[in-house]
Amino acid sequence: MNNLTINKPIILSIGLVLLLILISGCSQPASEIVEEEILVEYIKLTPADFRTRIAEAPIAYLPLGTLEWHGEHLPLGSDGMQSSSFMKDLARQAGGIVLPMLFLGPDMMMTSDEQELYGMDFWLSLEEGLTYMTPQQLDGSSYWVPDSLFHQIMDHSIKQLARAGFKIIVAHGHGPSTRHVITHWKEWEEKYNVLIYTCWSWNIRGENDQESSEISDREGLGIMTDHAAMNETSLMMYYYPDLVLMEQLSPDTAQWPLAVAGRDPRLYASAEQGQKAVEFQLERMTILLRKSLAYIR
Ligand SMILES: [Zn+2]
Repeated sequence: MNNLTINKPIILSIGLVLLLILISGCSQPASEIVEEEILVEYIKLTPADFRTRIAEAPIAYLPLGTLEWHGEHLPLGSDGMQSSSFMKDLARQAGGIVLPMLFLGPDMMMTSDEQELYGMDFWLSLEEGLTYMTPQQLDGSSYWVPDSLFHQIMDHSIKQLARAGFKIIVAHGHGPSTRHVITHWKEWEEKYNVLIYTCWSWNIRGENDQESSEISDREGLGIMTDHAAMNETSLMMYYYPDLVLMEQLSPDTAQWPLAVAGRDPRLYASAEQGQKAVEFQLERMTILLRKSLAYIR
């Protein structure tokens, strides 16, 4: 009895906190809807929405994600989060529909002491280039599929998208997945009568945006051009500031963060740099896609 009396105020406080959480939770979707007045996500569209958007611009965006170690400071889903967010911005500007992120992807693979290691597990890198270090399984990575299976997933996805009426497909994200698209774009274009793009500055279809490419390469303004280093960390800081935990990295810059490849994020990453990259690439990609739309019509 005595315990009950003591706990009453605590129970009341917990009740109040839960009520506040419930109230703030209820208001959340409304603010999201206001922010996303233009619905661009495939999963949220009704058939009527779909018909309208595809008639305006038959562009499908496929974010190539992973569930992969991105340093101690970034979320495991960083690849799909960056590509999805950029693609949603691009779809609002250039038209089109954004697919859900694909979390399976290819990567380099090796076997060490009967253990399978993938990508960054054994390409643990130092600044300005990759340096071979002691291989180890990195916490949280869970995405790898062989090239042949990824090829099938992409092949069937593109076939289905072409069947649904899309004429342009932008597939971008995780490096090895994007490189796979670059290797096979021509085959898919011929097979399914679509145009295929990635978002890297050098574009695969040979159209001339040389000047933009040079600027973006020089100033580090690409979309996902390193691994958890300056570029990816800046993009995450811009899109998801609350999810980037720089304090998880050692402040001693003589100590290189585990499995981070590119320029040191502690010295060079910022939300401003991320915003600059996004704005630059939004403009560049919008021009390319509008030219493409004019070409197919
Ligand atoms: Zn990444």
